[in-house]
Amino acid sequence: MTTLIYTHDACLQHQPGRNHPEAPERLRAVRRALQAPFFAGLQWREAPLGSAEQAKLVHDADYVDWVHSVSPAQGLRALDGGDTVMSPGTLEAVLRCVGAACAGVDAVVAGEADNVFCATRPCGHHAEAERAMGFCVFNQAAIAALHARHRHGLKRVAVVDFDVHHGNGTQQCFHDDPDLFYGSSHQSPFYPGTGSRHESGVARNIVNIPLSRGCGTAEFRKGMSAELLPALRDFAPELLIISAGFDAHHQDPLGGLQLTDDDFDWITRELLAVASDSAHGRVVSILEGGYSLDGLASGSAAHVRAMMES
Ligand SMILES: [Zn+2]
Repeated sequence: MTTLIYTHDACLQHQPGRNHPEAPERLRAVRRALQAPFFAGLQWREAPLGSAEQAKLVHDADYVDWVHSVSPAQGLRALDGGDTVMSPGTLEAVLRCVGAACAGVDAVVAGEADNVFCATRPCGHHAEAERAMGFCVFNQAAIAALHARHRHGLKRVAVVDFDVHHGNGTQQCFHDDPDLFYGSSHQSPFYPGTGSRHESGVARNIVNIPLSRGCGTAEFRKGMSAELLPALRDFAPELLIISAGFDAHHQDPLGGLQLTDDDFDWITRELLAVASDSAHGRVVSILEGGYSLDGLASGSAAHVRAMMES
């Protein structure tokens, strides 16, 4: 198996301010974890710069142009009231996130790799068509899905999201298209407030698994096994994108779930099994949240190890 890692130092230059949880150290922790001897077989590539046109596959053109126009030369520029801010390095960082996700799709479709992990930041799944939200500027997971269609003619694309937060932006993008599937497990009630079971899309193409605070291995695996994985299997994606957040880890300071590294290993293997059946194994996983540096490092290592071994 060949697993590619797309990353770029520009993703360290998104600096949303001291004490902001979405800090550059997060990416350093992930990359350090993937330098352990076990990971010697990984192929590392520099994330290309994504384009405004790629961002506009998901986002309103006015919003994408506005983000470019307000990028600060110095200091910080708040985009959404405080959670999501741009520093001078943010525009390139978010375009590298977009570029990594789209290049990852290109690589698995071309057969250059079995699967791909995008070690990029900031996260993207809260970003909606016309607004930044929850640390996210562009929604690279949704963009990758539409890029797969636009560039490669794939029809049925799924995103599965195990971040502790619901990916409201991805759900919004996929809601009305029966050939796009979004499945999410997340803490509820919790930020951003969306993700109830009743939100099921235009054709049951949205599957939400809300988990109450304190839930751990048993509830997570039950919800995935009983609901999300069977629905994903029925959908039969031609490409699977994973919104891989590690803030459901028991060590995470923001999340209130109790997942372990074994849970991330388990769900990764389950998802890759579905992709193996319907998608020629094509999987592009994209880093979302995770705010315990230790939990982020060990969780992402478990995830990538499972991708290499599946
Ligand atoms: Zn999150």
